[in-house]
Amino acid sequence: MAGKRDFYEVLGVAKGATEDEIKKAYRQKARKYHPDVNKEEGTDEKFKEISVAYEVLSDPQKRAAYDRYGHDAFDHSNGGPGGGFGGFDFDDLGGFSDIFDLFFGRGGGSRTGPQQGADREMRLDIEFEDAVFGTEKEVELYRLENCEKCDGSGAEPGTNIKTCGQCNGAGQVRSVQNTPFGRFETVRACNRCNGEGKVVDKPCSICKGSGKERKKRNITIRVPAGVDTGARLRIQGEGEAGVNGGPPGDLFIILVVKPHKKFRRESYNLITNLEINFVEAALGAQIEITLLGGAKHTVNIPEGTQPGDIITIKGKGVPHLNSKRTGDIKIIVDVKIPTKLTKKQRELLQNFYESDEEKENRKGIFNKFRDVIG
Ligand SMILES: [Zn+2]
Ligand SMILES: [Zn+2]
Repeated sequence: MAGKRDFYEVLGVAKGATEDEIKKAYRQKARKYHPDVNKEEGTDEKFKEISVAYEVLSDPQKRAAYDRYGHDAFDHSNGGPGGGFGGFDFDDLGGFSDIFDLFFGRGGGSRTGPQQGADREMRLDIEFEDAVFGTEKEVELYRLENCEKCDGSGAEPGTNIKTCGQCNGAGQVRSVQNTPFGRFETVRACNRCNGEGKVVDKPCSICKGSGKERKKRNITIRVPAGVDTGARLRIQGEGEAGVNGGPPGDLFIILVVKPHKKFRRESYNLITNLEINFVEAALGAQIEITLLGGAKHTVNIPEGTQPGDIITIKGKGVPHLNSKRTGDIKIIVDVKIPTKLTKKQRELLQNFYESDEEKENRKGIFNKFRDVIG
């Protein structure tokens, strides 16, 4: 997760910003960069960045973790406080739909016309390999659909639906109040018809007049290769059912990629560590490693490899999302020094030491160093 921008900077707020300030900043930025509104190149990325920043800073617990540990708090390579969430969590939906309500401004007002159903956001945790190679995931979700028995009308089949007498079908009621500060006109949803503009003689026995039923659905989500945490997938028409014949909303899947034991990601490169012993480092070696996905690859360790040297395997990293390019694998070499030696090994090393031409040179430096520190 190198090169991640500071979340406060992303939202353009100060470190000590209040919850309201953060919300306000997010709302402004989200409006500006929402991919449905802004078709400019890179908007998607921007919007993703803003959403992730807001998700963290709007949650007091996550914000505290972020203030303390920075991005490490949510970095998947170290199992920090952000790690460890498993599977799908329907409780999380509440949080995400809050974000949505915030800028779509859904709900409220008259509901008499056809209206698109609400969008939903859902978090999906996926394996590291699946993010790199892409996958299909079947998810189970509950959503409000039109009641089958009454076809969404809310009326028991065969009974009447009448225009509401209180609001004359408008779904709204106006009231005027005189106060010391002046006249106020308020508009609120009609309480007799619940803003529907219609009343039923006999409510449907299945949905109790709401016209909606909560139904389980299984949908298959195609996760493209190369995605990372925070990516949003839009599944058209899988949000909540529309009202009065309106189309359903959309479902947005927010991906959270689980950490991997051996590999971590930096942009489109995969980073891994390889431990070799000091003889292999000095003489060079061929070492077989297992790549992500299980394939074997022989790494050529050149003679004289130093601790921290990086060996690159070109084109075996993460595929770019919107191009044919693929990142690299970067292997960071760790050189292990033995802590226990057999008698034989000790002798061999001693011989090596005696024959080392640079030894005298180093001794000279060491003696000089001793002179300096006394
Ligand atoms: Zn009414
Ligand atoms: Zn019904």
